Amino acid sequence: MRVVIAGLFHAYKRQRVLDGVDLEFGSGVLGLLGPNGAGKTTLLRLLAGVLRPRTGLIEAGGHNLRTGEGRRDLRHELGYLPQDAALPPDMSPRDFLDYVGLLKGMAEPRERRHQADELIQRLGLALEADRRLGSLSTGTQRRVGVAQALMGQPRLILLDEPTAGLDLEERIRLRAVLGTLGEGRTVVVCTHLLEDVQAVCPEVAVLHMGRVTFSGPAADLTEIAADRAFELMQAPVSGDSGSSSSPLRKRVLADVPPPGARPVLPTMEEGYAALIRDLRRESTAE
Ligand code: ADP
Repeated sequence: MRVVIAGLFHAYKRQRVLDGVDLEFGSGVLGLLGPNGAGKTTLLRLLAGVLRPRTGLIEAGGHNLRTGEGRRDLRHELGYLPQDAALPPDMSPRDFLDYVGLLKGMAEPRERRHQADELIQRLGLALEADRRLGSLSTGTQRRVGVAQALMGQPRLILLDEPTAGLDLEERIRLRAVLGTLGEGRTVVVCTHLLEDVQAVCPEVAVLHMGRVTFSGPAADLTEIAADRAFELMQAPVSGDSGSSSSPLRKRVLADVPPPGARPVLPTMEEGYAALIRDLRRESTAE
């Protein structure tokens, strides 16, 4: 599904949160990155039709989300995991998925059951499928939240911090699922974790102070730190634990090579850090 956003603004009361967002993307997984408060959740809410866009262009699958009709029509093709999704504590994951399927217009009980079973397997929820949602860990509830977003096989999937509250093992398992979603669908994963993006998102958009400041292949983010990533050797401090006496390697990001440092290929994390540093410098210089 093609999504086109141009000149999109949004304000809560008088606080401007989106300040002219321009972004276009199609099928595949897009990682929406940015510091806290950058406006990621707001952009996702506008795309989900939960907030009403007042200015600019925002279209998904040809639906104009400025109109009530466009927002309603998109809902039949949308899967959405909000940031603060609260699940009904007395329902089981299996019953909840069935209920969400019904809300999404899946009239056939057998089809709902089949999809719910499939998602329970896919998200590793088999042991918890019939327990009360209220009794499950935050991480398990989050996986149920992802499963409900996938019910009804939506063409546009919006996931706000899907790995929040997950332990490392759950996070790795969920990333494996997210990595498979992009075929034939448009998926936006909003996150502040670069590891999520590295693991699952071939394309990235970085939001900073309400504007898209980078969009393109995730690998291109590393370019931003080109010629600015260095490695320094430091003698181990006496009394350090460990028996090795080899020097410690420390990576630094700098405009001018520090004495004794050697240039290294930047990582994506360093590219992102360099981008945010440049933007902060620009905004304080203005
Ligand atoms: P992010 O997801 O990147 O952290 P958000 O879209 O949640 O960013 O928030 C952007 C800014 O908008 C923040 O300063 C936040 O405090 C503010 N904000 C978010 N939601 C509301 C709201 N419902 N009412 C007022 N201000 C809000």
